[in-house]
Amino acid sequence: MRARVDGTVQGVGFRPYVFRLAEQLGLDGFVANDERGVLLEVEGDPAAVEAFVARLPREAPALASVERVSAEAVAPVAATAGFAIVDSARGGVPAAQVSPDTATCDACLAELRDPADRRHRYPFINCTDCGPRFTIVRGVPYDRPLTTMAAFAMCDACRAEYDDPRDRRFHAQPNACPACGPGVRLLDAGGTAVALGPEDGDAVRAAAAALRAGAILAVKGIGGYHLACRADDEQAVAALRARKHREDRPFALMAADLAAAHALVELGPEEAALVTSRERPIVVVRARPDAAVAPSVAPRCADLGVMLPYAPLHHLLLADTGGALVLTSGNAADEPIAYRDADALARLRSIADLLLVHDRPIHVRADDSVVRAVAGRPPVRLRRSRGAVPASLPLPVPAERDILACGAELKSTFCVAKGGRAWVGHHIGDLREAETLAAFEDGIAHFERLFAVAPAVVAHDRHPDYLSTAYALAREEVARVAVQHHHAHLAACLAEHGETGPAVGAIFDGSGLGTDGTVWGGEVLAGGLDGFERAGHLHPVRLPGGDQAVRQPWRMACAWLVAAGEGGEAAPPPMPAALAGAVDGARWRAVASLARGGVAGPVTTSAGRLFDAVAALCGLRAAVTYEGQAAAELEAVCDPHERGAYPLPVRDGAILDARETIVAVARDAADGVPAGVVSARFHRALADATARACVEVAARRGIDLVVLSGGVFQNVHLLAGASTRLDAAGLRVLVPEHLPPNDGGISYGQAAVAACTGAGALR
Ligand SMILES: [Zn+2]
Ligand SMILES: [Zn+2]
Repeated sequence: MRARVDGTVQGVGFRPYVFRLAEQLGLDGFVANDERGVLLEVEGDPAAVEAFVARLPREAPALASVERVSAEAVAPVAATAGFAIVDSARGGVPAAQVSPDTATCDACLAELRDPADRRHRYPFINCTDCGPRFTIVRGVPYDRPLTTMAAFAMCDACRAEYDDPRDRRFHAQPNACPACGPGVRLLDAGGTAVALGPEDGDAVRAAAAALRAGAILAVKGIGGYHLACRADDEQAVAALRARKHREDRPFALMAADLAAAHALVELGPEEAALVTSRERPIVVVRARPDAAVAPSVAPRCADLGVMLPYAPLHHLLLADTGGALVLTSGNAADEPIAYRDADALARLRSIADLLLVHDRPIHVRADDSVVRAVAGRPPVRLRRSRGAVPASLPLPVPAERDILACGAELKSTFCVAKGGRAWVGHHIGDLREAETLAAFEDGIAHFERLFAVAPAVVAHDRHPDYLSTAYALAREEVARVAVQHHHAHLAACLAEHGETGPAVGAIFDGSGLGTDGTVWGGEVLAGGLDGFERAGHLHPVRLPGGDQAVRQPWRMACAWLVAAGEGGEAAPPPMPAALAGAVDGARWRAVASLARGGVAGPVTTSAGRLFDAVAALCGLRAAVTYEGQAAAELEAVCDPHERGAYPLPVRDGAILDARETIVAVARDAADGVPAGVVSARFHRALADATARACVEVAARRGIDLVVLSGGVFQNVHLLAGASTRLDAAGLRVLVPEHLPPNDGGISYGQAAVAACTGAGALR
């Protein structure tokens, strides 16, 4: 009997599993990895063969995901007795799965902590069930020579484990030990190895001692470098902010274990499951009021982002330091995270006092994944990267030709697809940075090789100025599909749930180019993978000064007050008291005139900008230092006890007219109503209006399915409020679960649309 197994079956201990199963059942034959997955042949007692086929998918190893077993009868060979694991076949077309990087397993942790074990305190301990995968793979098949471990020749002891199918390190490609594998070194900011005396212990102990004393440490991890310091040391955290040139954006924390995480944040059972999952994402969750965390870690945030150690090096460092650490991406300001050693040293030496480095190269940069817990609902994924990538997602309508989808611009990802399967790449970031653009291009080339995708169709955003669009237009010999931004959001959510539509989609985000040339972002769409109509939207206003209005929320406050008719036909609206200290009168008047029209004030229906306007009006923030900051702070202050709501009528079908809302916000703010109360009334108004608009469009069109997506739905008050109301109205509500609601999900949505609509001739 010959069988082919498709799915995530390489690098997950599948072959030794097959070996043990065959041995148990007394079957002869072989198993091999090849370019498509796993190929095996067994022969022997027919009842045993039958049992083998039945048990094969059922008892597969934890990290494996078997999608299909295709078995066929072949003539017995009986050439060799016994069962063998044979070498991977080379050549041909690779299409095998590469699994995500996986947190250190309990068996390895026990050895790491066992003074009698030969890998006691070895920072690179791993086995078939755990360790780096995606970030060390250079090509397929997934075998040691095609990983960044190729340069490390295994010692006899490691080789014996690697060759023994009964050992849990059988064919664990990153298998290593202190005698033969990678090692850590502690460098000073000049790049010179720190000499360690007998009292310093090893490099990790010395690094931990420096952290305890208040140092900033750069640490090379799985997908890149982090910057670390004590979480409870305000001086160290403030110094890290200053040196990184990062003003307000919160830092993530790493806690030694679940108990230590409980001391920082309010972890319910769902959050605890997330934080301990194999993927080990950063989990954003409500901070405990008594958490021993310096104020500069997450200024003006109610939440903290917490993760647990996922590499053995982290386990050692956290245990040796004895307290939670800030562990933030190793970069300055908005640059991509450093992952190559020379580059890291050059870029991080001005930030870090010391660098804890190692000599196992990182082939692909992968930032930490981020999820946000939502009470009673599935968590919202804010970033899908290390630990999750490159697991594939299904396409509900299979692609007839191979597809590349180029995504959007901020929070950029790309996606390649073949048949019924799509692979969304790691988080790339803001494509406007030259280095990020290079990572985007390299990442696409890597994925095309790994998954044997030769794109004949290239999908892209309609925005002509996105660099992802420019990349798509530069690809030769392909058919191109332009997918409207918010349609891609709708399609991504439908597709990950295996749906094709039609659905009503409330798609709220910062901006995306609409089919009418204006800036969309508060859209009610009706449609599916095959197309859409704009059924409604937020009342349009001007974006005074274009991009400047994104950085300065007070401009949006002005634009909304002008739209609401405050100040009359020609006069500027009176400046709200909350902005008096932040904006001078002449600029206010100039912006008010831009808000009345003209080329410097493009028309927008952006929901993100409405949040900005409200945040500015209640005095939270006149200017921001990172995208989405004003909305995040407005959400953070939301008073859970307030039950009121502002008026927000839905007119002419599904136009969400927030003009009265803004007037009410401004009035409350002028009357000294606390920002938390204003925030709660605004959130409730928008959630209500969104639900009403969706219900109306759904009824009119005979649709029973609603999608809520777009970056604004990272806001849990809005998400929970709108979904609860839609549930109550008897509609089925889908929200993104495997991919972020933000632009990180766009590429997959583009691929789903391209697969469904096909593409015309080459152009
Ligand atoms: Zn392990
Ligand atoms: Zn060894």
